[in-house]
Amino acid sequence: MHNQTPGPGHDVPYPASGTNERAKPSSPPHAGKSFWIRDYGNYTANPDLAADLRCDILVIGGGIAGLSSAWHCAKDGLGSVVVIESEIIGFGASGRAAGWLMPQFGMSQLAIHKKYGVERSAAAFAYCRRATAYTRQIIEQNGLDSDYRAPGLMRVAFDDRWIDDLHDLYSAHQKVGVDTISWLDARQVQASYNGNTHFKAAIADTDLGLLNPCKQVRELKRIAEAAGVTVYENTPATHLERTPSGVRVSTPGGRIFASKVVLATNAFTHQLQGPLGRELDRYQAPVFARGAVTERLSDEQWASIGWKQGNAIESSLDLFHYMAPTADKRIQFYFIYYGGHPTRTEMEPTVDAKGGQVSLAHLKAIFPALKDVRLAHNWGGHMSGTRDLVPHLTNVGDERVIYIGGCWGHGLAISHLHGQTVADMLAGRRSDLTDFWIVNRKPQRWPAWPLDYLGKQAAWSLMKRKVRKQLRGSIFDDPEGGFLE
Ligand SMILES: Cc1cc2nc3c(=O)[nH]c(=O)nc-3n(C[C@H](O)[C@H](O)[C@H](O)COP(=O)(O)OP(=O)(O)OC[C@H]3O[C@@H](n4cnc5c(N)ncnc54)[C@H](O)[C@@H]3O)c2cc1C
Repeated sequence: MHNQTPGPGHDVPYPASGTNERAKPSSPPHAGKSFWIRDYGNYTANPDLAADLRCDILVIGGGIAGLSSAWHCAKDGLGSVVVIESEIIGFGASGRAAGWLMPQFGMSQLAIHKKYGVERSAAAFAYCRRATAYTRQIIEQNGLDSDYRAPGLMRVAFDDRWIDDLHDLYSAHQKVGVDTISWLDARQVQASYNGNTHFKAAIADTDLGLLNPCKQVRELKRIAEAAGVTVYENTPATHLERTPSGVRVSTPGGRIFASKVVLATNAFTHQLQGPLGRELDRYQAPVFARGAVTERLSDEQWASIGWKQGNAIESSLDLFHYMAPTADKRIQFYFIYYGGHPTRTEMEPTVDAKGGQVSLAHLKAIFPALKDVRLAHNWGGHMSGTRDLVPHLTNVGDERVIYIGGCWGHGLAISHLHGQTVADMLAGRRSDLTDFWIVNRKPQRWPAWPLDYLGKQAAWSLMKRKVRKQLRGSIFDDPEGGFLE
């Protein structure tokens, strides 16, 4: 079980002009990286690798994808399994995510539907649906302590002009067999929020779980170790190359000779060095996303706004307004205000307060009774974006190497299921999972930098223009228009 240190006074006042909260002297390692890491409290990392070793399966990257793969391989008796993580478990997207377990695929289910048609989109949806159920099963059967609950999601039109688009989304989801959704008119949706008339219509979806992702990934470490996996933290893979019998991976403390390797390095994959690392260059590109969380709301504040179901809320605008209650009664936001990534080498996002403040202002526009609520923490992290919009799960060169990643902002649930798919692939077992159409699909590469950056900035500008237009005249109208700069 984790060693948590929450409690009264745990909130640190939000600094007036600052970025992240001031680091407390007793802050756990990487506390500024996300609210979840800070909230986790003390965490004791495993020792780093200090000598050469051999193993059957080496997993590089200790996020949910890597630890789930390692756990499944060990459970399935595929030999000795080692995980190396360059920082600590929870450092990557898995410790910074919003914690939504939802049946969304790649960039978005709707984008997949438009690009790949009904059949593939329906198969993708079925895989995601299985993934959310499977994640819940892993949590319940193994007693994972990660604040899991399944309150559902409401996608909301906060303006009459947005209702048609929302209904189009509803119809598209119905076409690919999403049967967990229902349409709520104004009266029906307002009933869930004390009659709040800003809610104009909604799609209610019962298939959404919420959890604390940092606790979840560290709980996966716990069960992986119990199944026999060895985990080294603060152990970066610095050079990767094939040998006649497998793969040789260098780390600062020793070399690892593995028969098979799983690369679960997600948005950091382009930084891998050595001949094998370079094979993966431009398979994915980091896309910057941010999170923020308010201080705890009082029972009176919660009662004043309704929202009793504790569900996640998403507005019908692209890339905006993802909010959900946390297990300890805060409101947490997730948002993407910046698209491309200028350098590909600077992987620690600059976190200013602007995005969080915009989300907070929009929350107050929806719920004026929350006018005094303040933010408690801002953070950022990288999702891994793929050019063809779908996640990658593929052998690289031959069957000794599997690369897994590129889930955009929807990797929490499917990374759990990918673990079983990876184990099937490494065992040479054909299964319904390995038959999924993304498996062993050759990834499309992004154009070389800076073309990819410029392309993404152009796409981002178009998206911003569209969103600005949608916001104009709505309750979120920003007279200065500044926050989308
Ligand atoms: C702000 C934010 C919010 C998000 N919200 C959601 C959400 O609500 N729902 C959802 O489904 N998805 C969400 N996502 C996406 C989701 O977090 C990811 O898809 C998922 O966590 C990916 O898991 P992973 O194991 O592939 O990658 P990561 O968790 O990024 O793990 C990769 C690990 O590899 C390590 N590593 C990298 N290079 C090396 C190396 N050379 N040697 C050793 N180790 C290395 C890294 O340190 C890292 O820990 C969000 C992402 C972000 C950034």
